[in-house]
Amino acid sequence: MTDIIQCVGCGSIIQTTDPEQAGYLPASALEKSLEKGTLYCQRCFKLRHYNQLQDLTISDDVFLDKLSEIAEDKAFVICMIDIFDVEGSLIHGLPRFIGNQPFIVFVNKMDLLPKSTNQKRVKQWIQRLLKDNGLYPNDIILGSASKNNTLADLREIIEKEARNSNIYIVGVTNVGKSTLINHLIEYYGGDKEVITTSNHPGTTLDMIKVPVNDKYAIIDTPGVIHRTQLTLHLNREELKMVLPNKMIKPTTFQLNPDQTIFIGGIGRVDFIKGEKTSFTFYVSNNLYLHRTKTERATTFYDDHIGELLQPPFKENLESFGDLSARTIKLSANQDIAISGLGWFTVNHDVEVVLWIPKGVGVSIRDSII
Ligand code: GDP
Repeated sequence: MTDIIQCVGCGSIIQTTDPEQAGYLPASALEKSLEKGTLYCQRCFKLRHYNQLQDLTISDDVFLDKLSEIAEDKAFVICMIDIFDVEGSLIHGLPRFIGNQPFIVFVNKMDLLPKSTNQKRVKQWIQRLLKDNGLYPNDIILGSASKNNTLADLREIIEKEARNSNIYIVGVTNVGKSTLINHLIEYYGGDKEVITTSNHPGTTLDMIKVPVNDKYAIIDTPGVIHRTQLTLHLNREELKMVLPNKMIKPTTFQLNPDQTIFIGGIGRVDFIKGEKTSFTFYVSNNLYLHRTKTERATTFYDDHIGELLQPPFKENLESFGDLSARTIKLSANQDIAISGLGWFTVNHDVEVVLWIPKGVGVSIRDSII
């Protein structure tokens, strides 16, 4: 029997025959890598060294099938949620994949929220949301996978609750699984940054098992791709503008009806009904927010899309397509959350028309902050 060799970056089984499929490595490179002892597939190699991503054909069914392996194991599951895209990162059918395995929810990227955020309130808010979706975790922990000093609570739970179980980290793509695992590996004395992290969806392609000691292992699972994620509409460079990497500075506008705010070139909010209201936007600091009169908004968009209003960048306008509009009624202190882009909140009842790319998830919720 030949040994199965996995890429240490994404977990794919290494193969030398089909460049279009996961795990491809030219035979000559395979020989060299075997001599060196570290083995990355061509895709991960390029991602690490040149920041290039190759597209691959992998169906969602394959991802979901993989996850159901968890139900068969002695498992402890850490389900990750992205605080910047809570609704977009919730895995509704989680119990279907993991059976009755014990699980906790780790709410990641807390470093993005303003300092004044009331953590206790956020936790209660998440708890309500999970309950509404039939999810009852053993615990909810807030933190940042990229900030080691926020992970003490999580490590404590792992050490206390996960004894003799394999620890599975599950979550949608981009939630921060690889980042978390790299930190845990480093903490438990393994190699630094063995798993490929990037802000492009679908980096981890197969289960990656990292033994922690002779009793248990940490296992990175393939990210479930949610079709409602905005990340699927933008390329890598555009994503960098949209996904915040620093604490968000909220921006507030006092608006009258018939005024419009553009969120770069990917979102547009027309205030159509209500009294004078403050609209507070929680989006990446790199996105330009522009106020204009609604009657001028369409012409303004057509004149400035791809330049003043970006992303999308000019060269990608054709593939980006048009924004689609929907009317939404919002009560005071509710948010409209746009999957992958952020959210805004209002302090009076209003009616707005929201324009975003087709298929991107939108949720109305009690305000998170
Ligand atoms: P995966 O697809 O779930 O494995 O996610 P990755 O670990 O590749 O992370 C996706 C993106 O989120 C990367 O750009 C990370 O740098 C970023 N990221 C991960 N964790 C955090 C965090 O705690 N805070 C912030 N601000 N960004 C994070």
